[in-house]
Amino acid sequence: MFLSGKRALVTGSTSGIGLAIARALAAEGAQVVLNGFGDADEIARLCEELSAVHVGADLMTQGGCEALMAGAGPVDILVNNAGMQHVSPVEEFPVDKWNAIIALNLTAAFHTTRLAVPHMKAQGWGRIINTASAHSKTASPFKIAYNASKHGIDGFTKTIALELAQTGVTANCISPGYVWTPLIEGQIPDTMKARGLSREQVINDVLLAKQPTKKFVQVGEVGALAAFLCREEAGNVTGANWSIDGGWTAE
Ligand code: NAD
Repeated sequence: MFLSGKRALVTGSTSGIGLAIARALAAEGAQVVLNGFGDADEIARLCEELSAVHVGADLMTQGGCEALMAGAGPVDILVNNAGMQHVSPVEEFPVDKWNAIIALNLTAAFHTTRLAVPHMKAQGWGRIINTASAHSKTASPFKIAYNASKHGIDGFTKTIALELAQTGVTANCISPGYVWTPLIEGQIPDTMKARGLSREQVINDVLLAKQPTKKFVQVGEVGALAAFLCREEAGNVTGANWSIDGGWTAE
């Protein structure tokens, strides 16, 4: 198991993509630190399943991010994955939603990364993986804050990769297309409203219409890509933005 002895923090890992990444890293021997919200019994069950610990900090604030990093201790692998979405036309877009999305999807990664880097640099090895999105490369209407945050995390990742290029620490984005998780399920009602469509129309004509494969990406596929980026063989993969989107951004 190539991640034995490595400590991996995955933000937003009580659900969806983050949980799948945590599972993939744990399967390779990493000691995983889970983060995110959810039912206490379910989180306890996940900790047992993955031999993991959970630090439940709210990453919406600087203090929450600092509490997470203090609770997690020095980490060898940092996966900035926690994220949220809101769907609404720009002129109606709630200001508090804009602030929350930028705080969680972008600013939290700055805080966790700046606190994780000193240990990684000192030991000459580290992996920083940011869950971006196809929306880091292309836009869809009514997702102004999400698109801005995800384009931002792409530039953030490239900057970290360049700053750390000679330190043994890599930084990359993973950019999924539509993955069937609670985040996607939760945006269907607002998309129905914003576009005047039925649930089936949103799934087939808005979501899957983007993906030439006509299939949702599976969370396990994203987890496997994250595990690859942690391999020694991926040591020269840095500053990249890996699409896993069924061909969406090839068009
Ligand atoms: P999800 O809603 O299933 O999971 C989100 C996770 O973040 C949960 O563990 C939740 O508890 C945690 N979280 C939410 N707010 C938090 C906060 N304030 N502090 C700490 N943790 C918090 O979502 P998902 O679909 O698995 O998305 C994960 C990441 O993948 C996000 O960054 C999202 O933008 C990105 N993404 C998702 C898709 C998709 O189709 N689902 C596609 C591209 C990118």
